[in-house]
Amino acid sequence: MAATSKAQCAKCEKNSGILTCDGCLVKFCRRCFNDHRQDLSKELDNVVYEHDMVKQQLETPNENDCHNLFKQIDKWKKDSIDKINQLADQCRTDVVKLLDKNKDRLMDRFLKITNRVRKGTDDEDYDERDLSKWINDLKELKDELIESSNFRVEEDKQQSSWIQKITVHEDFRDQLKAKDGNL
Ligand SMILES: [Zn+2]
Ligand SMILES: [Zn+2]
Repeated sequence: MAATSKAQCAKCEKNSGILTCDGCLVKFCRRCFNDHRQDLSKELDNVVYEHDMVKQQLETPNENDCHNLFKQIDKWKKDSIDKINQLADQCRTDVVKLLDKNKDRLMDRFLKITNRVRKGTDDEDYDERDLSKWINDLKELKDELIESSNFRVEEDKQQSSWIQKITVHEDFRDQLKAKDGNL
């Protein structure tokens, strides 16, 4: 054995490590150093492959449906429209119920008019004042049937967060990276 102890090649652990790779700081013998360069060259192929893939993506025109942001916008649009449709349907159902209820109430009033007119006709005791009142009552009833005065549609101005508004923003991560020297 030699008196002076030389560092061994880290790979074969037989020959002296005479060459150090600057990247991983490992000492190799001549042959293992060449193998190591070969391995690095294979990894470079991998980098080139990834590089070409990214290049291809960069050169592909932006499509309006593939990017995740477009999916996010479409989902927000669909969810919002669903909410509007659901509420509109609910409100329509409510209006039908109110109109039915209103008709029942108007029917009571109408039957009272019917009875008065019928009694007046039977007794033959009506005069101009009765005729005028009956025609007015009927007209009022007809107006309310067409446009009811006791219900309306109202916008809730307080509930502004019912549908969340969306906006598109740019984060300045790339600029920060470039400043840090990472790009
Ligand atoms: Zn070696
Ligand atoms: Zn190395």
